[in-house]
Amino acid sequence: MCPADPNELMRSIPGVDRLLTALGDQGLPRGLVLAGVREELNELRQAIRAGQAPAVGVEDVAMRVCERLARARSRRIQPVINATGVIVHTNLGRSPMADQAIEAAQQAAGNYVNLELDLATGKRGGRAAVLEQSLAVLCEAEAATVVNNCAAALALVVWQFVKPEHNQVILSRGEMMQIGGGFRIHELLETAGATLREVGTTNKTSLADYEQALGPATAMLLKVHRSNFYMEGFVESPDTRALAELAQRQGKVLIEDLGGGAMFPTAPLDGEHEPTPANVLKQGADLVLFSGDKLLGGPQAGIIAGKADLIRALKANPLFRALRCDKMSLAALEQTASLHLAGQSGQIPIVAMIHAQPDALNDRAQHLAAQLADLPAKVTARPSIARIGGGALPKTELPSACIQIKPHNRSADQLASALAAQTPACIGYVEDEHLCLDVRTLLPGQEDVLARALKQALGANAAKS
Ligand SMILES: *Cc1c(COP(=O)(O)O)cnc(C)c1O
Repeated sequence: MCPADPNELMRSIPGVDRLLTALGDQGLPRGLVLAGVREELNELRQAIRAGQAPAVGVEDVAMRVCERLARARSRRIQPVINATGVIVHTNLGRSPMADQAIEAAQQAAGNYVNLELDLATGKRGGRAAVLEQSLAVLCEAEAATVVNNCAAALALVVWQFVKPEHNQVILSRGEMMQIGGGFRIHELLETAGATLREVGTTNKTSLADYEQALGPATAMLLKVHRSNFYMEGFVESPDTRALAELAQRQGKVLIEDLGGGAMFPTAPLDGEHEPTPANVLKQGADLVLFSGDKLLGGPQAGIIAGKADLIRALKANPLFRALRCDKMSLAALEQTASLHLAGQSGQIPIVAMIHAQPDALNDRAQHLAAQLADLPAKVTARPSIARIGGGALPKTELPSACIQIKPHNRSADQLASALAAQTPACIGYVEDEHLCLDVRTLLPGQEDVLARALKQALGANAAKS
């Protein structure tokens, strides 16, 4: 056979309209379907120009567009069942919120709200006054405020305290850490205009190291909580109290970036104590920064608590405006803070998950395994280890329970992929050629949905429940 004539091939590429008809309803807005069609046609033309002879029949092209659109559908933000046992799962959106917070966000989303109106006076009011007060009470601080996330809080603090004549931020080499996907705290500091003054070594930093670095060029001392790693052995660093005293003597501020923001004692979990924001302030830090969607269990936010004059100054910084939260986040955070204040943090999903008892989890796993008795797979309930996640309490292993599944007719990896392709997508982990689904991170009632998805994924007859 002679090679296909490129011009002939080009002419035989199906037109957009024919493809759209062939594709039918794809469950995506027409604009996205059209974009998918155009991308596919562009690739086809490029392939032909490159001397390849791809299949250009309507069916073939439509099939490839279908695959492209399926990928787009799976990339839309959608609920996912987290059976990984990692509670504050960064890739899965960190903390699911409490019902009260969801309701508040929804109300704020669909209504006008008194965001900047004081209903008592009819005058313009401050944003989120009650939220700020609630956070201050929670943190036992003089004042508090909120920005977009903890990284934004850090950037704002740098912009506020770093000036051309004193631009150094003193940071221990033992705290120069990376969080998640490529976010390095010292890079943020430098990008925000600080000159980094590194002190100490990876494992040991003494108070004298800080003392020697302090000078007229110092803008602030920064202590970054080692939230997502731990060091053991020949390790030393001054505590917040010692640093605070030093900072105060020299007339500088001490800022502590805490990250997690636990409001409850974490030591009972397995002996690893994560300081609370109140702990840090009591020890003398001028400001403490932490995330709203880690251990607090609220929406994405960066909370800043501490000295009233500093909070006031931060809020007056023109860049505060660039970092402020929207009404939905503020409303959700206000409710989340209220739950903590009312001693009802057990209603916050991640707090409930963290405190779930192994016996109860074991019962859930047994019950789930019993629902899956007829599947073409070996299903057993067994103990497992869950984690806090979100770069918090990295050492803490929470005794948990999972079901482990060994399919008869495929690999555990294949089952994991099939389960992730269900609606809702269900995410577990593969260990020793078994798919493990940890029950600690399931929200109440998700067992049934998970069981149904598993049956579908295994190609079992889903009619029988
Ligand atoms: C997670 C974390 C941050 C970043 O918080 P975001 O809210 O994700 O911006 C900053 N510092 C520390 C110590 C953290 O653990």
